[in-house]
Amino acid sequence: MKVTFPHMGNMSIAIKGLLTDLGLEVVPPPPITKKTITLGVRHSPEFACFPLKINMGNFIEALDEGANTIVMAGGTGPCRFGYYAQVQREILLDLGYDFEMIVLEPPQGQLSELTDKLKELCGERSWPHIMRALHNAWRKVKAMDAIHARSLQVRPRELQKGDTTRAYEQALQLLDEARTPAATSACLRQGLELLNKVPVQHDKEVLRIGIIGEIYMVLEPFANLQMEKVLGEMGVEVDRSIYLSHWIKEHLVLSSIGLKGSKDTKKAAAPYLQHFVGGHGWESVGDTVRYARRGFDGVVHILPFTCTPEIVAQSILPTVSREQGIPLISFSLDEQSGEAGFRTRLEAFLDLLKQRKTQEKLG
Ligand code: SF4
Repeated sequence: MKVTFPHMGNMSIAIKGLLTDLGLEVVPPPPITKKTITLGVRHSPEFACFPLKINMGNFIEALDEGANTIVMAGGTGPCRFGYYAQVQREILLDLGYDFEMIVLEPPQGQLSELTDKLKELCGERSWPHIMRALHNAWRKVKAMDAIHARSLQVRPRELQKGDTTRAYEQALQLLDEARTPAATSACLRQGLELLNKVPVQHDKEVLRIGIIGEIYMVLEPFANLQMEKVLGEMGVEVDRSIYLSHWIKEHLVLSSIGLKGSKDTKKAAAPYLQHFVGGHGWESVGDTVRYARRGFDGVVHILPFTCTPEIVAQSILPTVSREQGIPLISFSLDEQSGEAGFRTRLEAFLDLLKQRKTQEKLG
C-alpha cells in the first residue's frame, strides 16, 4: 500500500508522520505549484470549489509518483464537502487510475466507523501502536499551530524581512523529523527559540487583523496567495481564527462524544445568524464579532469563489462590520485570482485602517 493524501497547509507534516508511524509507505503529494492547479482545474467540474480542484491536482501528481491509496476526509452538512471524495474518486477512475480511496468520515456521535476505517488502513498494527501514533500526530499538530501563532506575532516586527519565515520553516523542518511525543515537545521548544531569536523592533506599532473564512483557504498559503506572510511583511499582526488543532478537536473529538464546539463564537454570531450553514460560515460571523470586541483593527475574510456557506456569511458581514464598528474586506479567490489586484486591494484596506487608527488617537 502506497498512501497519499491532499495538502492543506502544514497538515502534511502531521499526516505523513502519522502514516509513517503506522508502518505505511507514504507518497506525499508534491508541494502545490501552478502545475498542480492546472491539473486540478483541467480535471474538475468548472463550478467545483477551489479546494476540490487543488486536491484533484494533489491526487493526480501523487498517483503519477506511484501512490495507490488515497486517504481523504469526508464531511456532512449543507455544503459540497460531503461528496468531495466521491466526486474525486469517480473522476480519477475515469482518468484510468487504479487506486483505493479510504474516506475518513467525522464520527457523528459514534467512533466505530472511524476506527473501522483506521483498522482498514493499519492492517496488523495493534491498537496501542495506533494510539501512540495518533498521540504523536496530535502533539505535532498542536506544536505546528503554536509555532505558527508565534510566527504571526514576530513577523510584523522583524528587522530583516524574511527572517521570521526562515526561522519558521526551520522549526517546521525539526517537527517533520520528530518521531516520538518527547522529540516533538523538544522540537517545539527549539522552534519557539528560533523564532524568539529573530531580531525585532519590540515597540513597533502594528495593525492587528483577524483572518476568518473557509478553513482550506485560511490554512493553505498557496490558495490564499500567502495572505498571512504578505500582511506580516507589511507590518500587520495577523490572528488566525481557525487552526488545524481546533478543527480536529471540534469535528473529530467533540462531535464523537456528541458535543458541539465553538460555543463562544456561535453565541457571538447569534444576533446575526443562529444556525449552521455548512463549512465555517457560522464561525465567520461569530469570529468577526469577537475580533471587534477584542479591539482588532480589521478583519480579512477569505473564501473560495462559489463557496455557499461563506457566501451566506459574506452577505451578513457588512451589517456585522457596520454595527460592531470593525472594517472588513472579503477576498473571493480561485485559480483566476491574480496577485497584483489582491495586493492593491489589501494595501488600500491597510491605508484605511491606518487612517482610522490615527483619527481615533486624535480623538
Ligand atoms: S465550505 Fe465552501 S469550499 Fe468548502 S466544500 Fe463547502 S462549499 Fe466548498
